Amino acid sequence: MTSTLGSGLDILRTSIDGQLSAPGSADYDEVRRVWNGDIDRRPAVIVRCASASDVALAIEFGVARGLEIAVRGGAHSMSGASTVDDGLVIDLSPLNRVSVDPVAKLVRVGGGALLSDLDAATQEHGLAVPSGMVSHTGVGGLTLGGGMGWLTRLGGLSIDNLVSAEVVTADGSVLRASADEHADLFWAIRGGGGNFGVVTEFEFRLHEVGPIVHLGFLFWGLEQGAQVLRLAREVIPGLDRRLNVLIAGLNAPPAPFVPEQYQGQPGYALLVTGFGSAEQHAEVVAGIRAELPPLVEFVTPMPFAAVQQLFDEADAWGMHCYEKSAYLDEITDGAIEVITEQVPLRSSPLSVMLFYRLDGAYSEFGEEDTAFSGRRTPKYAVFMVGVCPEPELLVADRAWARSCWEALRPHTPGVGCYINALTEQDESRVHAAYGEAKYERLARIKSSYDPGNVFHRNLNIKPG
Ligand code: FAD
Repeated sequence: MTSTLGSGLDILRTSIDGQLSAPGSADYDEVRRVWNGDIDRRPAVIVRCASASDVALAIEFGVARGLEIAVRGGAHSMSGASTVDDGLVIDLSPLNRVSVDPVAKLVRVGGGALLSDLDAATQEHGLAVPSGMVSHTGVGGLTLGGGMGWLTRLGGLSIDNLVSAEVVTADGSVLRASADEHADLFWAIRGGGGNFGVVTEFEFRLHEVGPIVHLGFLFWGLEQGAQVLRLAREVIPGLDRRLNVLIAGLNAPPAPFVPEQYQGQPGYALLVTGFGSAEQHAEVVAGIRAELPPLVEFVTPMPFAAVQQLFDEADAWGMHCYEKSAYLDEITDGAIEVITEQVPLRSSPLSVMLFYRLDGAYSEFGEEDTAFSGRRTPKYAVFMVGVCPEPELLVADRAWARSCWEALRPHTPGVGCYINALTEQDESRVHAAYGEAKYERLARIKSSYDPGNVFHRNLNIKPG
């Protein structure tokens, strides 16, 4: 394919502010890598864009030559949506500038920045944007699908804090989308994924967080699973929104704070984070400890930026991964039965089952305020993630994630699912994720901004 692109590639190379890589380039194999080690694709050309005009040139180049176009922020798409065999990758990684206005409590972030870039800049001022839990994830893909993490209860999803965005659309126009400008586009990019154009800059509202916050890690063995889950369902919904608890079915990490005999042991953890006072956090941890004394307990003040990096190593680049996800309105006794049956069946010690709590500020946004693929009633987002150092192990844990999801299905509300965790990209799943009315509204907006479906390597919404 690259040979047929011929001199066009040289012209593109000299026209852009950024860099271009193609088969034969010294950096090609490094630049084409994506986070999921299970994805190995060979694009015809990777355009590392350093400006909105680079993005417009790359789109024009790809469309003119009939190349399939993939857009890459942090490269964490589990299914490899941000790369493509024989096509053109718009790599936004050079666009990672972060500029904070601490007085207005606003931040502008390049479309290719990572959460770590965002956290580092905002935490200098004791401020933060609600985002995800692994700091090498891209702000771009995470935000466009929703963005949930430690601060969701306190400040809502990432999209709930989005003020405006600069978007390069399929015809190369550079637009600003906000409540006042291209309001339809602004609605669609808050949950509709990368369907509507390439976001070269996001502007977010900031919250006061940290820089020092509080972490509690409490761990129990497999046999106490049902008790841990019952306790979690009692405690979590009543918590002040400056606290959060992540429920995890996992193997205890080989960390210095885990006594050697428990390292690598399968079980359940509650990770209690506190963004208010140390006393408030300590009181919740003490309540949990009194109800169900854990095997391992580690409580400490910690920089918020470090809390954001807790899972970075366990989710390192190059792991072979697969994921299924669902929403749970309640952790019912039936769901507990399924979870405690399934968690011990993982093959890889790195595979996990995680429960993010969605309530508080999350539930204060209206169903129609954004295009988010999930109802705003209080709930849990559940992730069944196969994370394997070797591809052979993933065969078993892909099957595990699927059967776990099947078993949990009767206990889920049956509406919506988080599109950022949807690995199967078939149309019916995307329809079901949004529901008919939202999907149709998104499809109408798609037909205004991308009638030719140039941006289809995503959870695709067809122009309607
Ligand atoms: P990429 O693979 O670069 O992009 C994914 C898709 O997003 C692309 O196909 C493209 O369509 C689109 N896209 C990306 N950037 C842009 C842009 N600037 N403009 C237009 N389109 C763009 N999600 C959460 O909400 N919370 C979490 O805690 C969380 N943790 C995660 C941890 C890991 C290890 C992984 C792998 C994923 C996690 N996710 C989480 C899911 C994550 O939100 C999605 O995988 C998301 O797509 C990643 O964004 P990215 O920019 O890194 O991905």
